[in-house]
Amino acid sequence: MPLLEAEAVHRAYRLGRTEVPVLKGASIRVAAGEWVAILGSSGSGKSTLLHPLGGLDRPDAGSVRFRGESINRYSPRRLDRYRNEHVGFVFQFYHLLPELNVLENTVIPAMVGVGRLEWIRRRGEVRERARALLDRFGLSHRVRHRPAELSGGERQRVAIARALMHRPDVLMAAEPTGSLDTKTGEAILGTLAEQHRAGLTIVMVTHDQWIAARADRIVHLADGRVA
Ligand code: ADP
Ligand code: MG
Repeated sequence: MPLLEAEAVHRAYRLGRTEVPVLKGASIRVAAGEWVAILGSSGSGKSTLLHPLGGLDRPDAGSVRFRGESINRYSPRRLDRYRNEHVGFVFQFYHLLPELNVLENTVIPAMVGVGRLEWIRRRGEVRERARALLDRFGLSHRVRHRPAELSGGERQRVAIARALMHRPDVLMAAEPTGSLDTKTGEAILGTLAEQHRAGLTIVMVTHDQWIAARADRIVHLADGRVA
């Protein structure tokens, strides 16, 4: 059984009175431990496909399954739980909170939905894990800095640490090197590769075939379908 699977997914956006179809029966299977790249040109629907896989959105039709269970039928609360328990996200523009420092940015998402008492009980352990991840990514001297004081590569490493905090089963990476120069992008791909070797499943979307080539397998998204 694949870890994660989309089958015949359809998605259209409404712009005024017209409907613009983006996904027209896109299917993809991701095995546990695999690194899959979804390669497609800009506007081909990569984000539109990634979001329902990560429980950020729902398809209009078709099904999305995690360990064989249809997550597209989940209630909004159950879908939040799916995301919080199983998925980590890394985006092109980092999505760090500017007023929080690196340590806070890393810790906070792991504590979303956690009650006050549990937060107090767990905060030591959670901070320790955040520090260990930041240390592994070469950011221990940056924990008190705000995102604006970091380079692009450092920001993306914070985003990866944040995404790994809750030990997700699958990491969704959307153009993770899209804002970085080649050398820094290489280092970020190296960080992802290291996590992959340690067993992490990765679904990465990109328009760049050289970046896609770092994955175990490339699938092409074009005309609303996966070839
Ligand atoms: P990609 O990630 O491959 O660049 P997207 O999935 O972001 O592509 O978008 C696919 C198409 O759908 C594009 O033409 C985009 O303009 C359109 N689109 C994406 N999101 C929306 C939205 N919320 N409303 C209307 N159109 C959208
Ligand atoms: Mg996109």
